[in-house]
Amino acid sequence: MTKPQFSFEFFPTKTDEGVEKLCNTFDTLNELAPSYFSVTYGAGGTTRKRTLGIVETLQARSNTPIAPHISCIGDDKSEIAELLDFYKSIDINRMVALRGDLPSGQVGMGELPFAVDLVRFIREHSGDHFHIEVAAYPEMHPQAKSFDADIQNLVNKFEAGANSAITQFFYNAESYLYLRDALNKRGVDLDQHKLVAGIMPITNSSSLIRFADSCGADIPRFIRKQLADYGDDRKAIREFGFEVVHRLCEVLISEGVPALHFYSMNRVEPNKRLVESLGLSNS
Ligand code: FAD
Repeated sequence: MTKPQFSFEFFPTKTDEGVEKLCNTFDTLNELAPSYFSVTYGAGGTTRKRTLGIVETLQARSNTPIAPHISCIGDDKSEIAELLDFYKSIDINRMVALRGDLPSGQVGMGELPFAVDLVRFIREHSGDHFHIEVAAYPEMHPQAKSFDADIQNLVNKFEAGANSAITQFFYNAESYLYLRDALNKRGVDLDQHKLVAGIMPITNSSSLIRFADSCGADIPRFIRKQLADYGDDRKAIREFGFEVVHRLCEVLISEGVPALHFYSMNRVEPNKRLVESLGLSNS
């Protein structure tokens, strides 16, 4: 069995204190020698300044690659071109390209309405400079016309120049395997276009359920029920969450998943514990 690669996702913090804390988290997780860290971006430029600042700070902190997320909905090509040029100027060479969701109150999709348009634009503007990851949905994107159309959208993103895809989080391994096999049947070379499993550790009940509902990710009944039973017992939730996510990763690893991308929520634990107990650490 080959050891999968792994990476961590951060979101931009709001305060100087938050940045300092994030740098400490980065240093600890970086000791595990991940392939890269990614930093999310608020669609419509809502976190533009903060995302750029954190990307620059982390990029200067070690040799581990930093991959900023970039979104296109509501933005002009010129704004995106500026971002691409800035990232290139500070030696960023990979990014996660997304459509994003319109911030409330904002109307108009902009010049690049879908992620496939953004991928095409990045290739036109920056050539092969960036390794481009895109989003994939094992349980279907909530706005997709059909499951089939959503899978075709992912194929289109690869054909437009995306290198690999990171999935939305899921707790049902079968949904990942189904998507992987569906891509295979459509002739996607999965050695070339890796399907990276997005892993959301479980540390909290209400915010996880709220988030899952908003992005169309399923929380299986056995998990919802157990989380409800634990009520405010955060320690019990953390232990149960660790067990469930560890088992999910084990199944994915036994199936040959090429890489795991942890939605770290800017925390050391349980991410470090998961990586270590799965034997993924490269340090
Ligand atoms: P797309 O691939 O463009 O797909 C969006 C929807 O449109 C899908 O339903 C697709 O089937 C449909 N579609 C595509 N083309 C067409 C067409 N021509 N006509 C009609 N329908 C079409 N959001 C952020 O704001 N910031 C982030 O940093 C961020 N990071 C993320 C990281 C990951 C790994 C994932 C999985 C999601 C992330 N998101 C982020 C959320 C993402 O922006 C949303 O899920 C968004 O709704 C869709 O983005 P996308 O890139 O998948 O869009």
